[in-house]
Amino acid sequence: MTRLDTARDILATLIAFPTVSSDSNLDMIHWMADYLERHFARVEVLTNADGTKANLFATIGPEGDGGIVLSGHSDVVPVAEQDWSSDPFEMREADGLLYGRGTCDMKGFIACALAMAPYYAARDLDRPIHFAFTHDEEVGCLGAADLIAALEARGVKPAMAIIGEPTEMRIIEGHKGCCEYTTRFTGLEGHGSDPDQGVNAAEYAVRYVSRLLEIREELKTRAPEGSAFEPPWTTLNIGGVHGGVAHNVIVGKAEVEWEFRPVVNEDMDFVKSEIEAYARDVLLPAMQKVEPRARIQTEVIGEVAGFEPMERNAARDLVMKLTGANTAGLVPFATEAGLFQSLGCDVVVCGPGSIAQAHKPDEFVALDQLTACLDLLDRLI
Ligand SMILES: [Zn+2]
Repeated sequence: MTRLDTARDILATLIAFPTVSSDSNLDMIHWMADYLERHFARVEVLTNADGTKANLFATIGPEGDGGIVLSGHSDVVPVAEQDWSSDPFEMREADGLLYGRGTCDMKGFIACALAMAPYYAARDLDRPIHFAFTHDEEVGCLGAADLIAALEARGVKPAMAIIGEPTEMRIIEGHKGCCEYTTRFTGLEGHGSDPDQGVNAAEYAVRYVSRLLEIREELKTRAPEGSAFEPPWTTLNIGGVHGGVAHNVIVGKAEVEWEFRPVVNEDMDFVKSEIEAYARDVLLPAMQKVEPRARIQTEVIGEVAGFEPMERNAARDLVMKLTGANTAGLVPFATEAGLFQSLGCDVVVCGPGSIAQAHKPDEFVALDQLTACLDLLDRLI
């Protein structure tokens, strides 16, 4: 059996676990843990607080610092309301393409990494190769945040990480972060004929949005010199403003959906502290002067740190050398890369399949992409 056959068989198994982010991934994690243990990896399954999901961290080779992490997320996006030509959780092959939910995003990479385990185990590695497979990436990198915290607590310090998100095996050295919030305003309803007797939640939501738009302009002046991003600064978007029941009623409840995409982590702190201060020091006191129970509450939908391009990046340089590529680029989607960067790793995003197929019906990965990925993982030795 060739390595590609092994990867294809493993991928078929992984696709058959319907690991949509809202559901448990434990069956898939335990299958991978068994497989890696059979191939002499030291395996740890780290369960989440309520025991419904887990991350897997495994190592082949010597103990100690250094080495490289092969990182992938086990969860996939839902298939509901998508028009698939066949069962999304049963892998189907046609014309050199493997179809199924998660084939490119990103069980294809995980299958390649697992297919290499016996080859890694057979070698006398001088540095460890780690496998990091997480839960809940698609809903805000929740599993990776826990995993990174666990590794940090144990003092595990890998030198590099390859995040196998679908880049068609192109080498990616950065992306913006992605932070999403819903801010809810609770005021006091009343008759529209006497606005001062109520607290109009919609009006406070509008003032909140106005401050966000001012911050958006300030962010343009904070673009790091030489920023390779397009646009080069942190962007901010208002995704929704909702509230109100009728023309003549003071709005009791309103909400604002908004997001921003930091190019540097300092902007993450900047946006959050500026808008929090405005809500706390300006809006809320004005609301509570009329109605002490008035509230402004912000729900964090997801906060994914950016992956900052670095001048020195050993992971990028290594993967460029191994693949013969001479450029590294940026992508407009967020990954777990920033979290591994926060652990002190040099990080590169490079994996099989195209983001164009991710999250869509009839998602696929090409066999020749898996071959290219296996070649890279082989050269790592
Ligand atoms: Zn992904």
